[in-house]
Parts: sequence; structure tokens; C-alpha cells
Amino acid sequence: MPDQPIQTLVIAGGGTSGWMMAAAAARFCGPGWRIVLVESDAIGTVGVGEATIPQIRLFNAGLGIDETDFLSATQGTLKLGIEFVDWWQPGQRYMHNFGEVGRALSVVPFHHWWTAARAAGLAGDYGHYSLNERAARAGRFAPFGGDNTLPPLVWAYHFDAGLYAAYLRRYAEARGVTRHEGRIAQVETQGETILALHMDDGRRITGDLFVDCSGFRSLLLGETLGSGWHDWSHWLPCDSAVAVPCAHAAGAVLTPYTRSTARAAGWQWRIPLQHRIGNGHVFSSAHLSADEATATLLANLDGPGLAEPRTLRFQAGRRDKMWIGNCIGLGLAAGFLEPLESTSIHLIQSGIARLLALLPGDAATLPVLAAEANRQAAREMEWVRDFIILHYKATARADTPFWQQVQAMAVPPELAERMDLFRHTGRIRRDHDELFTELAWAQVLIGQGCAPLAAHPLTAAMGRDDLAGFMGLLDRAITAGVAALPGHGDWLAHHAAAQETRS
Ligand SMILES: Cc1cc2nc3c(=O)[nH]c(=O)nc-3n(C[C@H](O)[C@H](O)[C@H](O)COP(=O)(O)OP(=O)(O)OC[C@H]3O[C@@H](n4cnc5c(N)ncnc54)[C@H](O)[C@@H]3O)c2cc1C
Repeated sequence: MPDQPIQTLVIAGGGTSGWMMAAAAARFCGPGWRIVLVESDAIGTVGVGEATIPQIRLFNAGLGIDETDFLSATQGTLKLGIEFVDWWQPGQRYMHNFGEVGRALSVVPFHHWWTAARAAGLAGDYGHYSLNERAARAGRFAPFGGDNTLPPLVWAYHFDAGLYAAYLRRYAEARGVTRHEGRIAQVETQGETILALHMDDGRRITGDLFVDCSGFRSLLLGETLGSGWHDWSHWLPCDSAVAVPCAHAAGAVLTPYTRSTARAAGWQWRIPLQHRIGNGHVFSSAHLSADEATATLLANLDGPGLAEPRTLRFQAGRRDKMWIGNCIGLGLAAGFLEPLESTSIHLIQSGIARLLALLPGDAATLPVLAAEANRQAAREMEWVRDFIILHYKATARADTPFWQQVQAMAVPPELAERMDLFRHTGRIRRDHDELFTELAWAQVLIGQGCAPLAAHPLTAAMGRDDLAGFMGLLDRAITAGVAALPGHGDWLAHHAAAQETRS
């Protein structure tokens, strides 16, 4: 392709990634661009993906979406964190919450003060010093902005993925995105350049830049352009999930958090929406049959199942290159990590941000922009991968062959170093652009049984009484803060009650 200007963006696929891309392009690309999306109702979407992390709020805000309108259109609920049950060892639970934990004093992060207080018998569980976590456990929520004593609540959402895609479709079409329904039968290329998509009814859809949002099949990037695959299943052996929605138990509190419960060969998710609860059992098919996984899932629902259980297969890994020629992969077409930390939708969002930041003006710049995007995307996914592996590696569980295997596995060297560093010194290694913060690493490391063996030496300067006073002050402030919040269900009923239902 000579260096003609790039002005037409063709999005292949209309799942969460396709419509997020379309909405963002419609919002940010401006009138000089033509945005086209192709999707097939017959093929459908993966239809799961209901839990998010707080960055989704930036995406929605960037589009100018009103939070309560979005929540009521998607059966949405608030999410203050993820509770992990039985991960370190059976009977134990902790939360990776999204907010602050305690308070840093001078240059020393809170988890060191907690380590010192814990050693002196002055502290409760680490999460006890977090407003986010205590509000989550109490089933309370309001958009609290913080005060002199307490940091603000930090939240994400649970929503119906199909309704979110439909919401974004309305948004995108209202801003000029053209949608073509039908099956892509063939992809026309010239070297590493995609020229057009050929539909099975004979239509030929041309474009300058193509975004592959075709799901696991990776029709453009994988199948057509041959981007290789980095298989991570030796670290993340879960390769299947069975999913089923269920009803809420009568009178139950609407919990503002995702729950992940470790099972014999994987784990089970519980995602409360306004009208139902999304449930799924992620498992390793080498250790558990689909029938056994389904039986475990159905035996652990809050209420009656609302649909037939559905099984999905996947492999952890990423495409070697996310961007080849004039084609960029997004969502499942670019790679997959199990939804343990609800990161897939975020990776779509950051892939979109990367594409917009590196948007080529003409074809001549494609190779250098692609190289930079590929470097960034690979690193980003490896960081997330290591954070997920941590949950499996740092466990005291050895009660089944699955847990014996993951506990004994060799992990990526960078992760092994991080675990050692924290265990021995409480220090956290984190690179500048990494998704998960020191707060996230500390919560998961402590929750998975890797609490630091020693606190920062500067904590020795605080006497026992002052340390007890500090921990007590935090505790009282958080207790009062939680008591002042309304119930999560009440807040939703007043501000963002669902408009439509869909299971
Ligand atoms: C078990 C499981 C649980 C998950 N849970 C979470 C979660 O809690 N949080 C989270 O962030 N993420 C989660 N994810 C990931 C999340 O579901 C996906 O990242 C998200 O749905 C994006 O999918 P997608 O749009 O890339 O692909 P898909 O939803 O598969 O969409 C693909 C699109 O391509 C179209 N298409 C494909 N082939 C053709 C063709 N030949 N012609 C025309 N159109 C075509 C399809 O019609 C469809 O529109 C989960 C994934 C799985 C498997």
C-alpha cells in the first residue's frame, strides 16, 4: 500500500471488543473517518464477561456516558473488589479490593505498618483497614469521595455483557458507525496488507485499517495473517469453563463484589447483577471432566438456574503480534487470560487506547507503529499473566493433583523474584506502566500467604502505643465510614434501577 492517508476503519466482529472499538472510534476519530463494523448474528458472541476493574469508568467517561444511565441499561451493579475464598488454604478468604488499604506514613507504605502491628499483636486482617473492603463485606455503597480521614471508595461494575454491547452499538450507530450483518467468508490480502472482507452474500468491504474483533478464531490476525501463538497453559492449565446464570436468593443482600471460590481443579465465579447472578466454573480438563465441573457448579448456586449450563473452551496465551500490516487484533482475537482478575475487558480498553495513541496517518508509518504497539501489548499482557499465576503458585493447597501441580510449577523468573522480594522485605517491584498497583500486589501476596517476614526498618521508630493508636484510629474511622453508607441494593434502586431485563 503506498502512503495514502488512512481514513476507513473496518472492525471485524461485534462482541464487547468490536462495539467498544466502534464507540471509541466514533467518539474520537472525527468526521474525516469512516467507521464500519461487520458482525454475524448467526455466529454470535462469546456472551460472557461481566466483571470489570475500575479503569472501565474512564472508558465510559471518555465516551461521555452517564454512570447511572449505563447501570440501569445493563442490569449493572457496583464492584468494590474480588473476594478470594479457599485460595490460600480451605476455609480462608481475602479480598483484592480496588481502594486504599490503611494509610502510608512518611515514606513507608501501610502494609509495613500493618506487618509491624501484626507482629506486635495489634492488628487484625490486612483488609480490615480498607473502607472499600469493609463496605463490600457489609453490602454497602455510595459514590463516597473521601474526607480528611478516609480515602475515597474506588469501584468498577458488573454488567450484562450483551446489554453493554447493545448499549455501545446504539451509541456508535448514533454517531455514524455503519454496521454490516453477515458472515465474512474470505479475507482479501496483498502481502501483509488486508484489502477487503468478502461477505458470504458477495459484498466486498474495503478499508485502510482493519481491527480483528472476531473472537477466539482470530479470523484476520491469526487465520489470515498467521500471527503465531504463545501458549501459557503450562502456567495456567485451566482450559474450560461452564457458565450458568441463577436467580438471587430471596431477601439476600446484593453484594458489591465478585467472588472467586477455589475448587478442586480450578475456581468458581459469582457475579451479582440486578436481575440475576452470573456463575461459572473455570477448570482444567486434564484434571476434571465437564460433567463433574457442571455438577460442582450447579451444587453451588445461590438460587435456581435460569438457563442450561454452557461449556466454553480456551487456552491461555497471546498472539505473537497483535498488529501486522494494517490489521490490529483486539479482545479474544489477540489473546486470552482466564477471568480471575476480570482483566479481559480492560485489555480491550487499553488496546483501543494504544491504537488511538498510535493511530497511523498514512500507510508508510504502519511498520514502526506496529512494532511499538506489539512491544507494549506483549509486555502488558505478560504483567497481567504473572499476576494471575501468582494466585495459583502462592498457595498452601496440595489437596488435589491440580493444586499439587500448580503449587510445584516453576513460574516466570520475574514473578519468582517479586514473590521473594516481598516475602523477605515487604518491598514491591512494579514497573511504571503496569496495570496492577502496589496495593493490588500487597493484597494478593498477603492474602495468598506470602505476608512479609519483616517490616520496613523505619517502622521501628514508632512505639507500641503510637502504633496501637494509629491502627485504632483507622479502624474507628472506617467503622464510622461504613455505617454512613447506604445498602448497595438501596443505592441502585434509588439511582440506577434496571430498565430492561435479559438473562
Ligand atoms: C469463561 C469466560 C469468562 C469471562 N469473564 C470475563 C469477565 O468476567 N470479565 C472480563 O473482562 N472478561 C471476561 N471474559 C472475556 C470476555 O468475554 C471477552 O474479552 C469479551 O467478551 C470480548 O470478546 P470479543 O468481542 O473479543 O469476542 P466475541 O464475543 O467472541 O465476538 C466475536 C464477534 O466476531 C464475530 N465474528 C466471528 N467470526 C465472524 C465471521 N466469520 N463473520 C462475521 N462476524 C464474525 C461474531 O459474530 C462476534 O460478533 C471471559 C471470557 C470467558 C471465555
